[in-house]
Amino acid sequence: MKEAIQNILTQLPSHVQLIAVTKTHPVEVLQEAYQLGLRIFGENKVQEMIDKYDKLPKDIQWHLIGHLQTNKVKYIAPFVAMIHSVDSLKLLQEINKQAQKHNRVINCLLQVYIADEDTKFGLDQIEVENLLKSNEMAQLHNICIKGLMGMATNTTNAQKIRTEFGVLHSFFIKLRGQFLTSNIQLEELSMGMSGDYPIAIEEGSTLIRVGSAIFGAR
Ligand SMILES: *Cc1c(COP(=O)(O)O)cnc(C)c1O
Repeated sequence: MKEAIQNILTQLPSHVQLIAVTKTHPVEVLQEAYQLGLRIFGENKVQEMIDKYDKLPKDIQWHLIGHLQTNKVKYIAPFVAMIHSVDSLKLLQEINKQAQKHNRVINCLLQVYIADEDTKFGLDQIEVENLLKSNEMAQLHNICIKGLMGMATNTTNAQKIRTEFGVLHSFFIKLRGQFLTSNIQLEELSMGMSGDYPIAIEEGSTLIRVGSAIFGAR
């Protein structure tokens, strides 16, 4: 694990952060990663994230990277650092409501559909623009849209992956020029996993989400 982490960290430009994707791994493994200096963990299930949050040091930043159901937002609202997988106004409104109860502003990314697969969640570009410019969006004072997240097609075709990440990056840059408000501050582009993070970094990622390249196969 130590060599894998060092290997990844040495490849990261200073504007890119590593999110260690710890889903399915037991608390002991996260403890080891913590000892090695990692402080940003990504989980895709609410229950698993809460269980681990309870048992681990409180200076860890917890990132929810998997699909989130509206009725589960309340469980992570007290502590979650960022939600990468926001894909509807309804979900955003619930995150806002729960964040308000805890007197917090929760950082969110909008998940954008870029892959050539229909199993992936996300919004298309028109939906993202409509959401960002909506009157409803302007009312949400306890969330902040920090950027976009996307997953490339699961393929060995590097050019295809590069093109998909490139499309998301261009869209991100375009939106950055259009939107800057108290709750829309587009700074982060979450793209890249174990199999494709080097390409994602070249294409403008600022947050890579890496699991198996650190912890081995799940
Ligand atoms: C599991 C997962 C990852 C990490 O995948 P690896 O291939 O193990 O690096 C990244 N992002 C999301 C959304 C995931 O669900």
